[in-house]
Amino acid sequence: MHKPKYALFFDNHTMAACPDVGADFNAAEFAGRISDCGVDFVGFHAKCNQGFCYYDTNIGIKHPSLKRDMFGEMVAACQSRNIAVTAYLNCGLSNEDAIRHPDWNTVSPNGATLHPDIYELGWVSPYIRTMCVNSPYRDYLISLILEVADKYPVAGFLLDSFNGFPCICPTCIREMKKRGVNWRDADEIQKFARASVLRLAEDIKAAVDKISKEYLLYFLGISYEDNVRIGSCLECECLPTYPCWGYDYLPIMSHYLRTLTGDDRPILNMTGRFYEWGDFGSIRPQAAIEYDLFYGIANGMRPNIGGHIHPRGSTQGAIFDRLQAVYSKMQLNEEWYSDAVNLVDIGVLSPGDVSKTPPLIGITRMLSELKMQFNIINADADFSQYRLLILPDEVLLTPETTAKIKAFLDDGKAVISTGYSGLDLEKKNFAMEKEWGIKYIGECPFDPSFFQTMPQLSNNLPEIPLALYKRGIEVSADNNTEVAAVLVKPYFNREWDGVYSNFYLPPDQVTNLPLVTFNGKVAHISSPIFSAYYELASVELRTLFANVLSGLMPEPLLKVSGLPSFGKATVTTQPGRRMVHLINYVPELRGKSEIVEEPLFAKEIKISILIENFMPKTAYLAPEKKELKLKHEGNYVSVIIPEICGYQLIVFE
Ligand SMILES: [Zn+2]
Repeated sequence: MHKPKYALFFDNHTMAACPDVGADFNAAEFAGRISDCGVDFVGFHAKCNQGFCYYDTNIGIKHPSLKRDMFGEMVAACQSRNIAVTAYLNCGLSNEDAIRHPDWNTVSPNGATLHPDIYELGWVSPYIRTMCVNSPYRDYLISLILEVADKYPVAGFLLDSFNGFPCICPTCIREMKKRGVNWRDADEIQKFARASVLRLAEDIKAAVDKISKEYLLYFLGISYEDNVRIGSCLECECLPTYPCWGYDYLPIMSHYLRTLTGDDRPILNMTGRFYEWGDFGSIRPQAAIEYDLFYGIANGMRPNIGGHIHPRGSTQGAIFDRLQAVYSKMQLNEEWYSDAVNLVDIGVLSPGDVSKTPPLIGITRMLSELKMQFNIINADADFSQYRLLILPDEVLLTPETTAKIKAFLDDGKAVISTGYSGLDLEKKNFAMEKEWGIKYIGECPFDPSFFQTMPQLSNNLPEIPLALYKRGIEVSADNNTEVAAVLVKPYFNREWDGVYSNFYLPPDQVTNLPLVTFNGKVAHISSPIFSAYYELASVELRTLFANVLSGLMPEPLLKVSGLPSFGKATVTTQPGRRMVHLINYVPELRGKSEIVEEPLFAKEIKISILIENFMPKTAYLAPEKKELKLKHEGNYVSVIIPEICGYQLIVFE
């Protein structure tokens, strides 16, 4: 199986009316420019979402103006340069097939076969027609995939649009009746649709396995967890300038996906050279693309840059110039990237499915800003590799998770929970009252509430009552439990009392109700501070959390000073080496879009890594191997980097 190192992907969705598809395509020149970028893996369209094939097909519909085997020429030109090609086929969308075979269309629960309502895109949308994967289209699609596998030496398949659009066509209704699904219920129809695309993915996997088990298979639209089960690689598609992703998606997913695979299967980080998909007229600044890709590689993900080929197939050298500039810069560091894995000491247990939820956005930002090394995990994960677990805001505990956390604590490790986390599934009691050392009373009586810390938690916090912003819970502390911060009540709650609208709500009296408690190695913060951070980014809340964290884990894997709060620092390892990646760019909100334009300078950055069972003899800046002076300080070894601009790799050997 091919293990991609540097990848490119070319979208090629082409309207039927384009009169000159492939007219300027020069496969040797195109593949030559790909090769110049040091790329070993490229995705190219065999079939687009308009339903057109770009190869000589006996089964499908070749684009009417395409006079050559564009895909085949591309595969041959790449193969001669040792570049593996993965074949893209859109599965859930195939407009031309839908026009020719109306019975292959999905029929949405309101009876429509045209869908201007999908994603509220209106009438001009790739989703105007969607395919029923239970109709005869299913066998046709599988036969196209097998035709490509049979004709061309491809390394894999990137199969798109497994969205699971609900369908009540006669075939789906009959199938639902057969399976005992309530076809009058919208949720049941949706569940059936999701199960249908999963069955299709499984059947495609079984079909291509008969040809080769070495294909890299990835299905866009089904979950990462299902891709781990059915596919053979993971791909995190994230165009951060596009609002559904933004700059919070990649950080969350990069800290999660590496915990799913449990083996060395590749995880690709696909950004784009443009501002949005289907955008023919842009090349994002080099700093913007490299920020995405350096972030990914610092978190164990191999880079992939998506784009869109011009219908005429012209090479468009200016685009390749930018791609080459980014990749040639990264490739200087390749010896320190190959097979490197991230070192972490903190596990963040996700409340429910891992996605862009307020608790996960808040904690991912806080931990990154504090330069902590962490994974985001689900309840199935092995907790034993972490020194500290964090349960952000809404992690209710099943009996199974309770038992795992108990074993974790029995190993002498630490837990921080916030908000409702730590309660049982009924939200009645803490699942481990004895270990937590507190009892659940109910919802916090104050809205809003403020807090005041005891001296041990007061580092860097101003001496005024500080706002919590989101309503939390009320707890009572057991006799031996240390209360390290308490709630300050407002004069009155935020409410309309029938005469006055209580909007201005200053703090009044300090109470003895706990905000932060420590019981042995368990700390609880009774307010959902990560969701609050998502809303208002209160630096004081992050400082409070940092003080709680250093109380339980005074010696984290990495300490950094001199890098701005938005700068990122991660630790990776190879045999005999540790690498620290420093990343210093900042997305700026310009109108509706967040943009990165330049790399930023930072000076006099001190990094200290925990020695543990690794004692480095030298440290240097990569790639030039300029040596840095090592200094031993307690359990840490430190270096000072005079200046960085954008990205810098530091190696300890
Ligand atoms: Zn159907």
